[in-house]
Amino acid sequence: MDRSRPARLTPTEDSPVDRTRSSRRHTVRIVRRRTPSRAAMFSLVMALSASAAAFAAWRWWRPAPAAPVYHRTINDVDLNWKCEAGHYFTASGQVADRPCAMCDQPAYVVTLFECPQHGAIEVAVRFTSGADGASRASQFRVNRGFWFPASDPVPCPQCDVPMERKPVDPLDAVNRGKKKGG
Ligand SMILES: [Zn+2]
Ligand SMILES: [Zn+2]
Repeated sequence: MDRSRPARLTPTEDSPVDRTRSSRRHTVRIVRRRTPSRAAMFSLVMALSASAAAFAAWRWWRPAPAAPVYHRTINDVDLNWKCEAGHYFTASGQVADRPCAMCDQPAYVVTLFECPQHGAIEVAVRFTSGADGASRASQFRVNRGFWFPASDPVPCPQCDVPMERKPVDPLDAVNRGKKKGG
């Protein structure tokens, strides 16, 4: 039963001369050839998927790159600010902390980071001026915790997984809104 199957599957390739010479050997050859090729394909697929998973893991866990650099100066655009008492207001960016317009407590620029599990998380930002005059995010703070360097990963306050900055650039959003409004 088993011997007849491979011979039926490849009737065109088999010349009648080969069959008459040694049909048994030929059948055995086909079976031997097929088995390692399937195993090779399987191991190749496994290796590819394993390397893809490793790459994805590396991309996720790699430390955050250098602090984001804003090519436009933060003094030129309105940013979202939030004071220690929770008041939100919009004002132009500046390197120094800004007193809240309502309660005079210190306020900080807020931006959004994103946890794949817990969604958008508000993160406070402090800026610094580099030697080239460009403003850079220098410190982050999550949920009124401690300030930490902007070069460090930003952990989710709920699951501690490093978060990615939300792809929306707040500077772009503010500019688009201004153009639409007037
Ligand atoms: Zn306030
Ligand atoms: Zn989370």
